[in-house]
Amino acid sequence: DAGGAHVVAGAPIVQITALRKSYGTNEVLKGIDLTVKRGEVIAIIGKSGSGKSTLLRCINGLEVFQEGSLSVDNKPLLHESAMAMRELRQRVGMIFQGFNLFPHLTVGKNVMLAPTLVKKRGQVEAAAQARKLLARVGLAEKFDAMPDQLSGGQQQRVAIARALAMEPAVLLCDEITSALDPELVGEVLRVVESLADEGMTLLMVTHEMSFARKVGDRVIFMHQGRVHEMGPPAELFSNPQTPELKQFLSSLHD
Ligand code: ADP
Repeated sequence: DAGGAHVVAGAPIVQITALRKSYGTNEVLKGIDLTVKRGEVIAIIGKSGSGKSTLLRCINGLEVFQEGSLSVDNKPLLHESAMAMRELRQRVGMIFQGFNLFPHLTVGKNVMLAPTLVKKRGQVEAAAQARKLLARVGLAEKFDAMPDQLSGGQQQRVAIARALAMEPAVLLCDEITSALDPELVGEVLRVVESLADEGMTLLMVTHEMSFARKVGDRVIFMHQGRVHEMGPPAELFSNPQTPELKQFLSSLHD
């Protein structure tokens, strides 16, 4: 098993150098170096509190970091520049554990909102795009439904469609199946896998090790704010090099 083995082009989409992030005196990211290439699928694993979520939140500008540099599509993230932040937000899509759909808007309007507001797309065009994206996540018939009429798995698929509507260069997924009933996990993972197969660049924090192994081109093991081990899933899972990763993997079987 060679992992995801997606077509990875040479161009780096995300470039992170010596990134450090603290909350007060608590240094949570202690010098992260990471380059993500176009089409690459990276699974981020590690114990709770190791900094996985903070790393994703730095990449889409939700968190301000203190040191290092970060660029997406060769555009450096500059927190002091509102213009640069807005551009970054358009390049980076993010999906969270909670689906965070707007409860008072139909499914279709949820998907249309950002493109109409941010990209100034017309209603007709945005609706056509939303229908296409909802079909892509298997929810074509839910355009006029309200979010609370949908299952958790369906709501998360709408959240994926909504993120795709901004045509991001990279999609960040932060434990997007953790809040779902077990029987609904598969339908969301299948959508993510299809995106990976279509060439989407993906960074996903996940507890689904078999999914990370199957779909990931690379796996990153984070430990105490550092990239502790990194490699192709087959290698990393079968032949962990550090005691910390060995311990983490064995803790999953308990
Ligand atoms: P993970 O995603 O691996 O569980 P996180 O990135 O969520 O880890 O958290 C890493 C560390 O940063 C933890 O020690 C956590 O308590 C701390 N942390 C996360 N968010 C905040 C915050 N908003 N304020 C203060 N500390 C935070």
